Amino acid sequence: NVLQVYKVARRCFGTDVQYKPIRSVLVANRGEIAIRVFRACTELGIRSVAIYSEQDKMQMHRQKADEGYVVGRGLPPVQAYLNIPEIIRVAKENDVDAIHPGYGFLSERSDFAEAVINAGIRFIGPSPKVVQQMGDKVAARQAAIDAGVPIVPGTDGPVTTSDEAMEFCMKHGLPVIFKAAYGGGGRGMRVVRQMEDVREMFERASSEAKAAFGNGAMFIEKFIERPRHIEVQLLGDKAGNVVHLYERDCSVQRRHQKVVEIAPAPSLDPKIRNKMTEYAVKLAKHVGYSNAGTVEFLADESGNFYFIEVNARLQVEHTVTEEITGIDLVQSQIRIAEGITLPELGMTQEKIVPQGFAIQCRVTTEDPAKNFQPDTGRIEVFRSGEGMGIRLDSASAFAGAIISPYYDSLLVKVIAHAGDLQSSCAKMNRALREFRVRGVKTNIPFLLNVLENQKFLNGNVDTYFIDENPQLFH
Ligand code: ADP
Repeated sequence: NVLQVYKVARRCFGTDVQYKPIRSVLVANRGEIAIRVFRACTELGIRSVAIYSEQDKMQMHRQKADEGYVVGRGLPPVQAYLNIPEIIRVAKENDVDAIHPGYGFLSERSDFAEAVINAGIRFIGPSPKVVQQMGDKVAARQAAIDAGVPIVPGTDGPVTTSDEAMEFCMKHGLPVIFKAAYGGGGRGMRVVRQMEDVREMFERASSEAKAAFGNGAMFIEKFIERPRHIEVQLLGDKAGNVVHLYERDCSVQRRHQKVVEIAPAPSLDPKIRNKMTEYAVKLAKHVGYSNAGTVEFLADESGNFYFIEVNARLQVEHTVTEEITGIDLVQSQIRIAEGITLPELGMTQEKIVPQGFAIQCRVTTEDPAKNFQPDTGRIEVFRSGEGMGIRLDSASAFAGAIISPYYDSLLVKVIAHAGDLQSSCAKMNRALREFRVRGVKTNIPFLLNVLENQKFLNGNVDTYFIDENPQLFH
């Protein structure tokens, strides 16, 4: 039996991590990422369990799991997926071995990871301590410093008054970026280039953060001009092994949010790639990181790069890494949570060899002509692009699907993989042109403009790209 095989194998690898099989997984999430995890479970012969809000009772993620349970009756739509005691109760009542948090919602809440573990259920992610440390910008930066990883100069802690903000700006000079200390998703961020704007911008960013995250504390960093956003995918096991799965370039951003992601980063100096991946692994080993995670960096034009944060979870753009490495990240996450080590999974650094280029486009139900306002309603017609080298990850991309205003506007992730950047762009372009979506507006016309932009095709864009090219919107 499987257990015997592992027992023998692990003696060979000399590990004493306890192996305990996972037979059922509940996904504390919805939409495409819930389905992504269910697919991995089904392939591994693991029972999959969905939760869904009342508003989501017709949603596809409920159908794609072996079982589904309604949560958050009477609660607002988002709250249903944030109700820790109820989610844990559903898991316990239904004999669930492990919980996968997906991304967003509870995925970076250490109190959730802890509650799961305290209930005797496995959490498919890093330890609560590491989730907590990485979620706290100040603690994460300190860990980076301790591991010898370069960071952007920033405040030593959360800043709550415009006087403190002024003091930092006088000392370090402009430009700076204000970030919500307890936020994410690009919200509450402001770039400040003039001293006379510091106070007003601080007040505005802080009240935006308070409205969005319930806390107005800010974090201030030197603003890096014309950066590329490059992030390293990691996997760590419970025995302390860490490997990287190369990097992704997520520089194509609108309002600090990623729109198109590429793996590996095009035209990246191999020396920088080596250093970046090495630093990412060092940081992960330093904090005892296990399971999947991402270390994000900003790279400037002169070849310097700086750590910005760790995402202690699976990311929306994990797909492009899977395409170039051939490694199923979600299956790996589950195996690692069972106590299997990376060498046992056949994952040693030299065996991870990226092939070609993969691109992901986030097709959203947003109207580019109306400043990307979310569009809602019933999808009347839906035909997708397909064919060699195209992968689709979605939840509500079909005729008859109702796009509600309650959750994010991601419709389908389209991923193209080919031998070089230009070929994968051509494939993506062709696939997006095959789409027919009627009933709701999508950002496909905008994505096509990106894919036809010469700078983009040359693999040479930074985070200013969208702002500097207003013709992309037409
Ligand atoms: P979030 O957690 O909200 O996603 P991040 O810290 O990951 O925020 O930053 C998101 C994006 O904001 C980055 O990819 C980058 O484009 C921009 N950004 C963040 N910090 C800086 C900085 N110090 N200098 C320049 N751009 C930055």
